[in-house]
Formats: sequence, C-alpha cells, structure tokens
Amino acid sequence: MLFIGIFRILGPAQIKGNLVIVIPFNFACVTGLENEFILDAIKSRDLCGNGKYTQYCQKWFEKNLPCVKSLMTPSCTHALEMAALLIDTQPGDEIIMPSYTFTSTANAFALRGAKIVFVDIKTSTMNINENEIESAITPNTKAIVAVHYAGVSCDMDLINGIAKKHQLIVIEDAAQGICADYKGRALGTNSHIGAISFHATKNITSGGEGGLLIINDAQFAERAELIREKGTNRAEFFKGLADKYFWKDLGSNYTPSELQAAYLWGQLQQIEQITQNRINTWNNYHTAFSQADFSRTALPAIPKGRKHNAHIFYLKAKDNSSRSKLINHCKDHGVAAVSHYEPLHATRLGESVGRFNGEDRHTSVESARILRLPLWYNMQPDQINQVISSVLAAKNYLSD
Ligand SMILES: *Cc1c(COP(=O)(O)O)cnc(C)c1O
Repeated sequence: MLFIGIFRILGPAQIKGNLVIVIPFNFACVTGLENEFILDAIKSRDLCGNGKYTQYCQKWFEKNLPCVKSLMTPSCTHALEMAALLIDTQPGDEIIMPSYTFTSTANAFALRGAKIVFVDIKTSTMNINENEIESAITPNTKAIVAVHYAGVSCDMDLINGIAKKHQLIVIEDAAQGICADYKGRALGTNSHIGAISFHATKNITSGGEGGLLIINDAQFAERAELIREKGTNRAEFFKGLADKYFWKDLGSNYTPSELQAAYLWGQLQQIEQITQNRINTWNNYHTAFSQADFSRTALPAIPKGRKHNAHIFYLKAKDNSSRSKLINHCKDHGVAAVSHYEPLHATRLGESVGRFNGEDRHTSVESARILRLPLWYNMQPDQINQVISSVLAAKNYLSD
C-alpha cells in the first residue's frame, strides 16, 4: 500500500524494480486551455472530422506557417502515407531518406511498394548528409525525404537544389519541427509537401495522437482532400461545390476527430510560451554541459540559419557501452535518460525493402551513443538541476 501511495504522490513516475524514476523522460503538454474547447466541441454535438476546430487549426497553420494548404490528420504517420499517395508512389520507385529516423518515414513509401534508399547522416545534427544524396540517385528515384531531427533543419537549399537538378520531389518529415525554421521559413514549408506530428511526445499535441499534412505546391492541394476523404469529393460536397460525392481516387480515412482538433486549438493559444519554455530548459542543459570538460562533440550543434524548437536535448556518450552505463547511472539517480532510433537499414525489414547507399560511416556509430535527456513543457528548475547533476557525476562516460 505504501508503494501505491508513493506512486500516487509522484504521479506518472515509473517504478522499475525497487527504483523510482522521479524524472520521467516526457510528459504530454497540457496548458489548461484544452478543457474549454473540448467541452465546447462536445456540447456542439458536431464531433466528426472537418468541423469547427479542425478548420480553426488548419486556418491557423495556413496563416502562420504559412502554407498553401494544411490538413489535420490522425497522426504524422498518416500525413506521410498521404504524401506517398499524393506523389503516386509506385512499386519500383526509389525514395531517398536517412536510415536514422522513425519507421513511419520509411513505412509510408514501403507500403506503396517503393524501395527505400538509405543515406548516411552527419554527426553534427544527425540529419541526412546532403552531400551523399546525389550519388544515391538512379533513374528510378522519385523523391527525397528530409527528416529534421530534433527540430533542427536539414540544409534545404542544398536538398532542393539537388532535387531541382534531377526533377525529384522533396518531402519534409517535420514530425519534430513545429515552431522551428530554416532561414526564417517554418519546417515543413521548404519543400513540396511536409508532415508534422502532434503525438504526446512532441512539443505540442492534439491529445496524444495527431498530425498535419502541409501542402506547399498547389498541384497537390485538390487531391489531398480526396485522399483524406476516403477517395471521395466529400469535402467539395460539404462546401456546396458538388451535389453528390463519388469515389474519385485512392484514399483512406485520414480525418481526425474534432476532439483532437479542440485539444490542439488549446495548445495553439500558447504555442509561443510552450516553445520558449522548452528553449529555456534546453539552454539550461546546454550551458551546464558546455562548461563541463567533456568532449564538445558530445553536445548538439545548431548550424547557422536554423531556429530550433528544443524538441530534444541529447548528449553523446563515448560509445555504446558507456551509454548503457550512463543510462543506468541516471536511473539510479531517478532520471530517465533514453536512447533513440536504431538504424532502419540494419533491421530485417530494412534489408528487404531498402538498401544503404554508400558507406555507413556515422549512422550506426552515432545512433549507438546518442542519449536523450528528459525535456517537457514546464519542467521545474529542481528537476532540471537533478538531471544536470546526475549526468555531471558520470561525465567520464562522455569524455573522449
Ligand atoms: C514522431 C515521429 C513520426 C511519427 O509521428 P506520429 O504522429 O506518431 O505518427 C514520424 N517521423 C518522425 C521523425 C517522428 O519523430
């Protein structure tokens, strides 16, 4: 009973063995404004997709990102699947992307029969190495997917330049990229099509799951609505532009509930405070660790011309075994520090649907040593300090 009591006091703390993690890796963002909008949506009894709150959110993104068109989706995974349909991905097409990414980036295209061509990353940002892209292009290449890891942009001028030269489509997996930019332009808007996630682990959420499809090239705008409405022109019908709706295209149900949109609308009211609060925490970490005497390569880099959004704060341990020891050390101090992506190309599925182009110089090595620290909206100073002091007490795992 005492144990349950402790659990209750600590809230979402995780009990592992007889150790108590008092600083979890993540808490979903809650501002307190969500309740009002969710109750309003419930009272309206108009809960299916594309209602008032979905329109509010989409208009907000179209104005503030800005973009030609935005469509809310049940997840970023779904937005990426829509992107794969929009560019008519066919069996035999090749899609270039980093191997260091989430499975959804690759699944979206593999589901349509495409071959995934993995390219190495850079150690500085963990993003695709733009200089390795061109040698991965073949006559079958259809698109390049830029994944902005930790909300730090890829070099979009370089990627768009290569794409233009070879007449390829560029898609941004900006799942982690809300409120971050490249040369003053929001992530997700520096390509033909972008996708953002509002999953509970991301900077803002639409109630646990959710995403956004961003259309920057007007040629994709009309079909995007058909694809999202189960392949029908239902959206036109509801706008009074058609008197019936038909099956017109391949599609699925990629429409989120109004409750998701109402939750997100609550978050959008405070999006600047949320981002600034995360940046303050990120800066606290960065300052503390910059003053420590471990290798500078252990710290994340923000290249010029990028505004990041403090989505992730990571460090890099000396090697994989040092990382395991550091994770255990943090756990002993009540701090949940976690690893991240396992390279996709090295999995059995990755081998069957893809190939790694060029040499894996950094992907495997860097993914084996990266370590993410707890970071969420409204993290308290004593929590931040506990994370910093527990890492600093084991900084030998981070030195060269
Ligand atoms: C979170 C994430 C996704 C998936 O987002 P969901 O909204 O959970 O579907 C895809 N790609 C990257 C890089 C992500 O971080």
